[in-house]
Amino acid sequence: MSKETIKIAIAGPRGRMGSEAVQLVENTDHFQLVGAIDITYDRKKLSEVLSCHSDALIYTDIHECFTETNPDVLIDLTTPEVGKVHTKIALEHGVRPVVGTTGFSEKDLENLRGLTEEKGIGAIIAPNFALGAVLMMKFSQMAAQYFSDVEVIEQHHDQKLDAPSGTALKTAEMISVVRDAKKQGHPDEKEILPGARGAEQNGIRLHSVRLPGLIAHQEVIFGGDGQTLKIRHDSYNRTSFMSGVKLAVEQVMKIDQLVYGLENIME
Ligand code: NAP
Repeated sequence: MSKETIKIAIAGPRGRMGSEAVQLVENTDHFQLVGAIDITYDRKKLSEVLSCHSDALIYTDIHECFTETNPDVLIDLTTPEVGKVHTKIALEHGVRPVVGTTGFSEKDLENLRGLTEEKGIGAIIAPNFALGAVLMMKFSQMAAQYFSDVEVIEQHHDQKLDAPSGTALKTAEMISVVRDAKKQGHPDEKEILPGARGAEQNGIRLHSVRLPGLIAHQEVIFGGDGQTLKIRHDSYNRTSFMSGVKLAVEQVMKIDQLVYGLENIME
């Protein structure tokens, strides 16, 4: 039986992630690109702006995009601030958001949860769409049951706006579920230079590296008596995120609540 077609709008189509998402939608039989949301090129065809075949129009007004193209799903790959606004507007229009931007607070998530319930539709926000990265977080949570001393080193390209990464924060959050909060290192430890020991969440140190040439990498290091365990994931290009975006678009059509984190739809 052929799968039902899912109509999709993409926000941020000219971006590094957004342009990969355009390719994904174009190359997936049961996905249809119906529109795009950008800050420029209003009413131009996507194919006039990007190297793609789509005749879908670009809209600078998200409301016009939704009312004129009636998408089932919005894929948002813009910026943390814009992603938050777009997610809310999408839900208000009855469009299911699949969001890759980070920076959602607990309060934001709570408000969005309320909106999904009110509208009876699903939403997926995933700080990391790389399936391997999600497994890295899951394996780290498993390891934390046996090793309570852990530090996270995340490395990203130097154009990334937020630090630490959403993935690092999510990893610390998942580890904290199974590990009692504790201060690591020597009790009298002093930072000679502020920030030398990184940021801290529930006693877990998070270190952010930003360099040209990098894409998205993370190592979770556990320390125990006479041993370390390192769990590492590397995204070498942005195609690595697209299998997760595809999975999220398919799954968001089947749920009627907010899901935060791809791990919750990978079971
Ligand atoms: P990028 O190359 O800077 O792309 C962002 C795009 O969004 C740009 O084309 C930008 O246009 C556009 N944009 C900005 N404001 C907009 C608005 N109001 N409406 C529509 N489009 C708007 O960044 P990227 O590397 O693709 O990353 C995009 C987002 O995805 C970031 O938040 C990043 O952290 C996140 N990300 C998520 C994952 C994941 O797996 N979840 C992986 C990688 C990245 P201008 O260039 O003209 O400003």
